[in-house]
Amino acid sequence: MRIFNLSGRLSLAVEGGAVDVETASAGRFSADVQAVYDRWGEFRSWADAYRGGPDRAVHEAEVGPPVPSPRQVFAIGMNFVSHAAEAGVAPPATPVVFTKFPASITGPYAEIVLPSDTVDFEVELVAVIGRRARNVPVTEAWSYIAGLTAGQDISDRGVQLGGTPPQFSMGKSFEGFSPIGPAMVTADEFDDPEDIELGCWLSGERMQKGRTNDFIFGIPQLVAYLSAIVPLLPGDLIFTGTPSGVGWTREPRRTITPEDELVTDIAGIGEMRHRFVRQS
Ligand code: ZN
Repeated sequence: MRIFNLSGRLSLAVEGGAVDVETASAGRFSADVQAVYDRWGEFRSWADAYRGGPDRAVHEAEVGPPVPSPRQVFAIGMNFVSHAAEAGVAPPATPVVFTKFPASITGPYAEIVLPSDTVDFEVELVAVIGRRARNVPVTEAWSYIAGLTAGQDISDRGVQLGGTPPQFSMGKSFEGFSPIGPAMVTADEFDDPEDIELGCWLSGERMQKGRTNDFIFGIPQLVAYLSAIVPLLPGDLIFTGTPSGVGWTREPRRTITPEDELVTDIAGIGEMRHRFVRQS
């Protein structure tokens, strides 16, 4: 199953398009996209049984973030073997966690404002929590995941790394720095949800390519680790970390300019495309 945020309304993908959930469920579920995660199990049962045809097309201009206002957003640093290697650091013994403040979320085709000339890209698989999770064992963790979406952990390296100690959460939380989408896809839609290809291109040049079987901590390990400390709430996000190829460690260094288009693709989820403008 895959869901979209179409013009701010919860929509279920069906053969040939999508259906408006509030209409198709005769009001049982509201159009509020974020609210569906609070009733995820009930919604999943309804959606799996739904047999109707589409009532609308999916136009890119209408597609918003499939999780527009989570209560918590966790992000994981140095979670790919390849990315730790290019950064010249040893793989961490426990997950490295920061936040991307929720108001930094934007859609899969939005325009993003560049606050400086030190802005970088990080393609990331994003896990969406489907029910309250506290002290979850690794073996049960997938049952707490509503599904997966694509994300970019856009990062102003100057703000992130310019001070001592570094300010990951600030450098990665400028308005628009957390694009996600285009769809939120349940784990059963993937051949193997623990081995998914992800990558991105900047103005047509391949920048990153990886597979999530290169994770240092997989999604079950992250859910277990985080939920042992703080409850994970329905609709929360976990940005799971980026593979090698970020601009900051390239020779020569590559940062995002207003002329660039950033294309992000995660197999089985879809493609995001972003253009940029310099802050006026
Ligand atoms: Zn990241």
